[in-house]
Amino acid sequence: MTATGIDFGTTNSVVAQWLGGEADVLLLDAHHIDADWRRPGFEYLFPSVVGMSSLRRGALFGWEAKLRSEEAAEACKRLLKSDEYVKIHGRRFAATTVAAGVFRAMRKGAEHNLTAIDRAVITVPANATGAARYRTRAAAQFAGIEVQALLNEPTAAAISYVHDLQEDFTILVFDWGGGTIDVTVLDYQDGFFEERASRGVTELGGLEIDRRLRELVLERAPARAAWTPAQQRQFGLDVERSKILLSSQESVTVMTPDGVAVEIWQEELEDAITDLVDRALAPVQQCLTDLHMAPLDVDAVLMIGGTSQIPSVRAAVAEVMQQQPVGVDLCDPMTAVARGASIAAAVLSGEEDGVIQVATSHALGTVVMDDAGHKRFSQIIPRNSPLPWKERKSYTPRRDNARSLPVEIWEGDPTRPLDHPDNVQLTELRLTYPEPRAREDSRFLLEYTYDTNGLLHVKATLERTGDEVLNEEIKSFSSGGPTPEVLKELEDLLTGNTGTTWPGQSADATTRRPVFTTAKPAPPSSAGARTTASTPQVLVVDGSNLAWIGRSPRQPDVYGSEDRPSFAQLLSARDALASRYPDAVLHVVVDATFRHKVAEDERAAVAAALSKGDLIQPPAGTEGKGDALVTAVADDTGATIVTNDNYVELQSRYPWLRDKARVLGATYSRGVWVFTPRACVAPCHRVVPAQLPKPSRALTPPSPYPLAEIKLRPHEK
Ligand code: ADP
Ligand code: MG
Repeated sequence: MTATGIDFGTTNSVVAQWLGGEADVLLLDAHHIDADWRRPGFEYLFPSVVGMSSLRRGALFGWEAKLRSEEAAEACKRLLKSDEYVKIHGRRFAATTVAAGVFRAMRKGAEHNLTAIDRAVITVPANATGAARYRTRAAAQFAGIEVQALLNEPTAAAISYVHDLQEDFTILVFDWGGGTIDVTVLDYQDGFFEERASRGVTELGGLEIDRRLRELVLERAPARAAWTPAQQRQFGLDVERSKILLSSQESVTVMTPDGVAVEIWQEELEDAITDLVDRALAPVQQCLTDLHMAPLDVDAVLMIGGTSQIPSVRAAVAEVMQQQPVGVDLCDPMTAVARGASIAAAVLSGEEDGVIQVATSHALGTVVMDDAGHKRFSQIIPRNSPLPWKERKSYTPRRDNARSLPVEIWEGDPTRPLDHPDNVQLTELRLTYPEPRAREDSRFLLEYTYDTNGLLHVKATLERTGDEVLNEEIKSFSSGGPTPEVLKELEDLLTGNTGTTWPGQSADATTRRPVFTTAKPAPPSSAGARTTASTPQVLVVDGSNLAWIGRSPRQPDVYGSEDRPSFAQLLSARDALASRYPDAVLHVVVDATFRHKVAEDERAAVAAALSKGDLIQPPAGTEGKGDALVTAVADDTGATIVTNDNYVELQSRYPWLRDKARVLGATYSRGVWVFTPRACVAPCHRVVPAQLPKPSRALTPPSPYPLAEIKLRPHEK
């Protein structure tokens, strides 16, 4: 088993594996990044997002969910809050289930990398509540990942940085990501880490910066019309992408959904966010004040998280700390946390020398009834106990002659009321008496043993006789693993069983998200073209292919300009199909470059059809060809595709392409469309432009962190 670390972030997650000498950051989902989102380092990110698209059955995760879903939710954020539900397609899913889906999707991505994530150290924010930690652990377990330990993010970052330091060291971790800013000061002393102070501001992150940039753009180009939700979503993504670009270039041009281009300069954005940066610096000051430290008492400043990469943020931290932060070559802001977690995993599994001292992040105990009849948290193992830890306490039943008693196992904060969201019941066990006796004779000692692997052993013995009345091990805090209900819910999420139907799934498919059904069917344009094949329910149209029929993508015409696909021609094909198959749902797919390829005067119409969802396209760039999307949609929905292409590269993946009932060929002559069943058999000439080169796979740079003999003592505070 490879030692694995998972940075389960609010915005992005990252997985690293320790290969003995270096950390390998996995490319989990790089193949789903649109060309315009490809930035150095982004291939390592897995957006912690779940989404839905009417084109696909089942939930989307990662980049697909971020860039291509109609409805998206951040799974991780809700895990950490008390609003534990995520609504998807009108159905509520427990946040833990959704997070489990994200973990499952990451495991799948790892399989693409020919590796596996079976066991891992998972990081959580330093200030995560006990309940959030519990749910994180549960979510990973539901996804089939054994959780070696939960590790605080700043500690993980520090582990990745400190490798063979001999002397004592004080580190300040400035972690500014998508939603919050967290500042932590750690001491590295005698080979152990200790978190000395941790301060933060919630609701202050990349999203707030996006909002400011959005305002800057809209000041200059106010919206002319109401934008559709799809346009809003696209604009939001464009704004975020532009913000990221502004960290490394002087200016960007942002396009509004109205088609207005606005140029924004790096300086302008920096001016617009000075107050946000000031607020982000406050926790730095608070930590220093808490510890009575001067800036120069800190030996190294680590900048972690996407937002910390904004040049003015880095400069502001440098000024406050009176020193330059550690360079990105030694501490990668996006991957350091995952790398550190993988090192911790290697140490915990004995692959690397070192000591990881795990401590309880929250108290463990049970529940008792007080005299007023209120339930109360009764602590057995206190918070911050180094593991393994054993502790016992005496309890008396409330009534005489009990034959058995329920024993609730709780984790959380005993100083808060039991119903505080920070307190969670882990499970309920049953204690059985050999014979009923009076209360006083039924008193028992409840003993908790919590070992380093996160196993809690619960034992109860009768004080009077020493008889054992309960003896059970609670594996990683969930007795017996995920319940059938949870597994069913996860299955529903993954397969798209949200209680509503998907296109092509049932007879009422036409009423769901109709694509083009509002268009008036044109009068039949060809009387003799009726096909005899069984009537298709769903048609997926290879739009680029039909738009190119009779045109040559390669040959410049006599005037020297290249021929173009025709959107008007595609629309006429759509109308002809709609009239030929009035009951069918139509999906029209075009290549990502289609809108740039059509004639100038058609571009606005194409853009409008795209934003309305009447036309769909794959991500721009090297994999921007429509055929993969056409076949994926048809495969999902059992649809018939309309194309003259042979999909040579896709035939082995989708054998049904050779089935005549699944492919309609199209012929176009003087305004008349003829559609005939055909099968994709032998390769013939391709009508669409030849394939673009496939993206070359990015290689993981060697890690600068050779692991010498170290002792690490990350606290799970
Ligand atoms: P989290 O830890 O919250 O999961 P990340 O550390 O991955 O989040 O940061 C995500 C945030 O950082 C997003 O708001 C994203 O837009 C922003 N971001 C990513 N890269 C950059 C960059 N180079 N410059 C500015 N912001 C960035
Ligand atoms: Mg993070």
